[in-house]
Amino acid sequence: MSEAQQPSRFEEDDQVVVMKFGGTSVEDSAAIKRLIQIVGSRKNVQPVLVVSALARVTDQLLEAGKAAAAGHLGSALATVRDIYVRHEELADSLVDGSAYGELDRSLRCEFRALEALLVRLARSRELDLRSQDELLGFGESFSSRLVSESLGEAGLPAVHVDARSCIVTDARYGQASPLWDVTNQRIQEVVGSVLQAGKVPTLGGFIASTSDGVPTTLGRGGSDFSASIFAAALGAARIEIWTDVDGVMTTDPKLCADARVIRKMSFDEAAELAHFGAKVLHPATLAPAVRENIPVHVLNSRNPDGEGTVIVARASQARKVSAITAKRNVTAVEISAPQGIDSTLLSEVFAAFDEYSCPVDVMGASLGRISLLVGASAALPDIAARLRDQAEVRWENHRALVCVVGENIRRDAEVASRAFATVADLEVRVLCQGASDRTISFLIDESKAEESVQRLHRVFFPKAEPVRDWGGISSAFCQAG
Ligand code: ADP
Ligand code: ASP
Ligand code: MG
Repeated sequence: MSEAQQPSRFEEDDQVVVMKFGGTSVEDSAAIKRLIQIVGSRKNVQPVLVVSALARVTDQLLEAGKAAAAGHLGSALATVRDIYVRHEELADSLVDGSAYGELDRSLRCEFRALEALLVRLARSRELDLRSQDELLGFGESFSSRLVSESLGEAGLPAVHVDARSCIVTDARYGQASPLWDVTNQRIQEVVGSVLQAGKVPTLGGFIASTSDGVPTTLGRGGSDFSASIFAAALGAARIEIWTDVDGVMTTDPKLCADARVIRKMSFDEAAELAHFGAKVLHPATLAPAVRENIPVHVLNSRNPDGEGTVIVARASQARKVSAITAKRNVTAVEISAPQGIDSTLLSEVFAAFDEYSCPVDVMGASLGRISLLVGASAALPDIAARLRDQAEVRWENHRALVCVVGENIRRDAEVASRAFATVADLEVRVLCQGASDRTISFLIDESKAEESVQRLHRVFFPKAEPVRDWGGISSAFCQAG
């Protein structure tokens, strides 16, 4: 077959393809129209659509919840009113006739429930994680209804499905985990039957519920995870993550204008990148895809013809460094126990962090001391009090974890020394505790994160070097080094 006759890289008859559109990819009427075009162009596959809340809505809902719990109900209701008006205006511009009437009714009904929740929060003066999950879930509920009706208006047979009736999780509010068997079964039943009827299931990402029907969320940025949960349950041919950049890049393009797209990377590398702060993918996203060996494509909804990044089980190993990441808002915790560290103390420490839902990122232990990194410090005074009899807990806020990622780089002394030499004068602390060979990390003051990323990027991805098509972005360094 000649080049010209070749089908598009995305044409596979009848296969299920899960397409996830992030907040900026549904943010306004132009974005939703682009989404409709992209979905409409997938002629020979069975799309399953997963959408985030409209850009900024989740933050606004959180702000409204905090305001209500602080007794500022008026300001909370005003924020929600803005969100309502934004959705209504979009509904008005994208949907007509009886479909508009139905969408309008369901949006009004949801907004009334949201207002009632804010009133409840203002009365109880408390926003616990359970109420917060209920609150934040409204964003995806609104957006998925809006997008579903907009697709219908454009002649695509979309059906709105409430993701909370499909993804069943534990009750770890704020960052719930799926109960896989029941989740897979529900998805196959509910989403599967919509697909069998030849329709396009349209669901909100991020949202789920416990087996008792209490709303939960999968953690901030969790719509990517939802997409891969649906894909794994449905045996999808691929996952498409539609976002606002051209793919996974050598670093966050907001930090470094020279960032380049990585055409192809392995699940392991991408998971490492996501774990160490590359916001483009939620850290849990890849696990279900890896389990079912489903390729993940990261694509730009503003540039749908771009190649994007494909993440697969194996990608070429010819390169060394593949990306630089930075994770902000890190707190470094030191736990000293003069009488030494033993398994009882370790389990007490983990139990304490677990009790306060404070996930631990990186850990190292030396004689009489444990070093941890955590993402949030609010619970640390309570954790320190709980461990007071066994150990002293101290911490430093406003740290960032800067990370060089690449296959086997930890074993490469030259990469490590070059990376260290590049940032040594910025008062970094080298961390070698991670279990993986794919990362070299530095702990640094948050104010210096941007500069260290830029310096490392300049060293490992020199500007003059051409980008290799196979994704060997860092071959430049292999040659230079
Ligand atoms: P969405 O709303 O589509 O889920 P996100 O804001 O969650 O989008 O993720 C996309 C953003 O991730 C980009 O705008 C970019 O600033 C950021 N980002 C951080 N690291 C990277 C990276 N290595 N490659 C690409 N984007 C990155
Ligand atoms: N809307 C949620 C958030 O902002 C989930 C997501 O966008 O993936 O965190
Ligand atoms: Mg995201």
